[in-house]
Amino acid sequence: MTFAGHCFRCGAALAAAPPCVCGACGYEQHLNARPTVGLIILDGAGRFLALRRARAPRAGLWETPGGFCDGWEEPADAARREAREELGVEIELGAFVGMYLGGYEFQGELLPVLDCFFLATLPAGAPLLVDPVEASEYAWFPLADPPPLAFGTMDRALRDAVLLAG
Ligand SMILES: [Zn+2]
Repeated sequence: MTFAGHCFRCGAALAAAPPCVCGACGYEQHLNARPTVGLIILDGAGRFLALRRARAPRAGLWETPGGFCDGWEEPADAARREAREELGVEIELGAFVGMYLGGYEFQGELLPVLDCFFLATLPAGAPLLVDPVEASEYAWFPLADPPPLAFGTMDRALRDAVLLAG
């Protein structure tokens, strides 16, 4: 795990990785996983919706839609917002699948992320308007037989979704 080695508040060099206390300003350092949401959107016929990533990291690989929660945003609200932004639809949020610890390469750091997955469905007949900045195409794959996915937490969530949706 990459750590910059500086106090989050005053920027002084730290003697150890968090958890620790800054020797310069006394600020307690904690490195916490950042929450994200992931959507396992089901079609009612045993398939889920995947997007092909258009940008780094892991560009070109398939993924489930989703993204980071904003500071005070409820994960369920973040899930609906991400569907609006990435797919142009109002999803119907279903059961909570689970939370999984992963890593995300961002701005030269490997961040711990806590990926929160929900089942979801699309409104009947709604056209998908995939954001081309985020994804180059979309496809439906069997829930029980996914393609190689961008992040390991997605594989774990899909396995649990099979049991939940079964
Ligand atoms: Zn400090």
